[in-house]
Amino acid sequence: MRWTWLWLATALAVASPALAQDAPHQPQARQIFERLISFRSAAGHGQVPAMADYIAETLRAGGVPAEDIVVLPHEETAGLIVRLPGRDPAARPILFSGHMDVVDARPEDWERDPFRLVEENGYFFGRGVLDNKAGVTAMVSTILRMRADGFRPRRTLVFGFVGDEETAFGTTRLIAAHDWVRNAEYAINTDAGGGALGPDGQPMIYLVQGAEKTYTTFRLTATNPGGHSSRPRADNAIYDLARALLRIEQHRFPVMANALTRAYLGAFGRIMPGETGSALRAFAADPQDEAAANVLFADPEFVGTTRTTCIATRLDAGHAENALPQRATALVNCRIFPDVPVESVRETLVEVISNPAIRVETTGTPQMSPVSEPREDVMAAIARSIHGRHGGVPISPYLESGGTDGLIYRTAGIPTWASSGIFIRNEEMFAHGLNERIPVASFYQAVDHVHDLASDLGGR
Ligand SMILES: [Zn+2]
Repeated sequence: MRWTWLWLATALAVASPALAQDAPHQPQARQIFERLISFRSAAGHGQVPAMADYIAETLRAGGVPAEDIVVLPHEETAGLIVRLPGRDPAARPILFSGHMDVVDARPEDWERDPFRLVEENGYFFGRGVLDNKAGVTAMVSTILRMRADGFRPRRTLVFGFVGDEETAFGTTRLIAAHDWVRNAEYAINTDAGGGALGPDGQPMIYLVQGAEKTYTTFRLTATNPGGHSSRPRADNAIYDLARALLRIEQHRFPVMANALTRAYLGAFGRIMPGETGSALRAFAADPQDEAAANVLFADPEFVGTTRTTCIATRLDAGHAENALPQRATALVNCRIFPDVPVESVRETLVEVISNPAIRVETTGTPQMSPVSEPREDVMAAIARSIHGRHGGVPISPYLESGGTDGLIYRTAGIPTWASSGIFIRNEEMFAHGLNERIPVASFYQAVDHVHDLASDLGGR
């Protein structure tokens, strides 16, 4: 999960979340959460299959028939799929998705044991409390509640538990291709989206992820015959590479926009003061407004929603302080606007560098994905759930900088919206980092949010 939103100086006055009353599922959800946090489900530790077994066992004990649970082993990890069959066999299923794996955490670096759920001062601490074990807990809790209540959805609900979202998406691909999922009408991802709280703890905006940029890293290499540094030649790999990077720094990729990004920038424009606010409103109204685009270009929070960006992130050159460099390499990390081919960005970089001696290679296998334009019934169900707890908060779709399971589902033809019930302050975003935490109230709201959506959308 990669969330990006800004810290706003002004807060909107909206209703406080209603206190949960009569919520017997909460202690159960907390217990499941505690158990899930205890699995060190990071790559290399091989604990995801045990975590999947625990979830499967919990669901069987809660009355889910064994034939509606499938574990998908994959290398050292595993995926898990669970279905609640619908009443209407003609209706296409809905997929809910969350990921069981986490980015590793070193206990010696943390103030508290990252693999033990700690509740302190209104927060839950632990690796994965935010990314994405609250979402996984919400899915398990929802299935158990529906079973206990005897709820039978009209549409089949399928719950996909991914085992390697943070590294490879291997289990995501298995889930997307599975018979129960392939025909899904759309997916709700619990791993992104969510609400931003202002400095005073008031909700300011709620975001639904509808698209992701293509994460791509290019390697630039300059080579040279080298030699002794006491006998310098006119050409030099480090100077050649440096010039190439300065040209990339000067280059601006063209402004781009779609209905989703315009809605997002417009929503922020309505709640942001000052020059940025007016630029956002102007850009949302007319993406060709150059003055507005220039203001947003200078703003790290918004530039990524207005165009492809490429930035140098690593350098490596030379082999001795008294030798002419034979090789200089740099990594340039790009976040490519949806629907722009990776190869066209590589070609643009080659053109911008305009030195055929510099090699520009694509690293890894970038995953492009289509945009999921907001769908009315899904956005309405999200609004009903969110406004039930945070009345009046503005809701907007957004373009993620890239890297969730939504990439895989969208590419497989399943439109996907990420909608987590978690509201946090920007400065509380410690996913992947140290001392990851989540407000206790947010956890229970996230649990209810999945139940709300599954009951609402499943009944349609
Ligand atoms: Zn995540």
